[in-house]
Amino acid sequence: MNKRDYYEVLGVSKNATDAEIKSAFRQLAKKYHPDVSKEPDAEAKFKEAQEAYAVLSDADKRRQYDQYGHAAFDQMNGGGGFDFSGFDFSDIFGDLFGSSFGFGGGRSTNRARQGQDSLLRMDLTFEEAVFGCKKEVELNIQDNCDQCHGKGGFDEETCPTCHGSGQMTSEQRTLFGTFMTKTTCSTCGGKGRTYKTKCSACRGTGKVRTHKVKEVKIPAGVDTGNRLRLAGAGEAGYNGGPNGDVYIEFRVKEHPLYERDGNDIYLELPITITDAVLGTKKDVPTLYGTVKLAIPAGSSSGDKHRLKGKGIEDVQTGRKGDMYVVLDIHIPKKLSKEQKKLFEELSHTELDDSSDFDKIKKYL
Ligand SMILES: [Zn+2]
Ligand SMILES: [Zn+2]
Repeated sequence: MNKRDYYEVLGVSKNATDAEIKSAFRQLAKKYHPDVSKEPDAEAKFKEAQEAYAVLSDADKRRQYDQYGHAAFDQMNGGGGFDFSGFDFSDIFGDLFGSSFGFGGGRSTNRARQGQDSLLRMDLTFEEAVFGCKKEVELNIQDNCDQCHGKGGFDEETCPTCHGSGQMTSEQRTLFGTFMTKTTCSTCGGKGRTYKTKCSACRGTGKVRTHKVKEVKIPAGVDTGNRLRLAGAGEAGYNGGPNGDVYIEFRVKEHPLYERDGNDIYLELPITITDAVLGTKKDVPTLYGTVKLAIPAGSSSGDKHRLKGKGIEDVQTGRKGDMYVVLDIHIPKKLSKEQKKLFEELSHTELDDSSDFDKIKKYL
């Protein structure tokens, strides 16, 4: 299924301001909220808009989306796109419909849930990937406030507004009569508990944006597209749930000499025509130092020599791959007078004395 572009979903331009994005989402939410909309595909449209808004209203996620598109969140939710189940829409829906319309109902809001995962990209040189290394990563995440331990305040008590029920009943007089409506208590947000003192460090939210630099050990043998999971290094959980994870995805730069194929590496080795004909010994640079390679007389271009165990260590098992040296015979383009004379002398000898040459001659 092709996912629509988030900007297109909300009907805003790529450089829309936060206010424009919020206002576009509010319009769509009003139109498609499943509790009020009569449109046939309201629920799908509403979910699509929620997902787009959850991403574009968050500066970090919007940046990731701008850079990588839907792929930025693909792997996190089994390919189902960005998982917005932990996103707090209450400020939007609260003032749109009154808080009783909160998406998912009051039951799920107090449930402990794991925080969001995030994905970082990291560039590595060929050597860093092959031998492993230590790298610093910058984590910019919404974490639990360490002053109040994510609670938002001190000295917990029963909410004085709703007396612990988490709900408020109010009477609404309209032209059509009087209605009793139940809404989530705005003082405690439905929890039924409040704090005597609000935490000043996080202004009562329990969450603070933190900037952390973490040293990460990259194992030997990683390749482009491999991901490393930093368990619990992601965004703070909801209602006491555990933190999400951070995934680091690697991009390994090419090496000027070696070509990598899984855990094997290939090296193209140029040799002269006489070395190919007469045989020789050649110094070959490997990942683990210089090795002498015997090139037998009568070698051809493309001949492969395996250097067992001179490949890359497998990231899981630690077993090393092999290195393959592929011969590339260089035919000289410019010859000195003397070289030319030698080749001419050689050409008068019977070098075409093989069945391959005879096969052609039959058709002449
Ligand atoms: Zn309350
Ligand atoms: Zn706090």
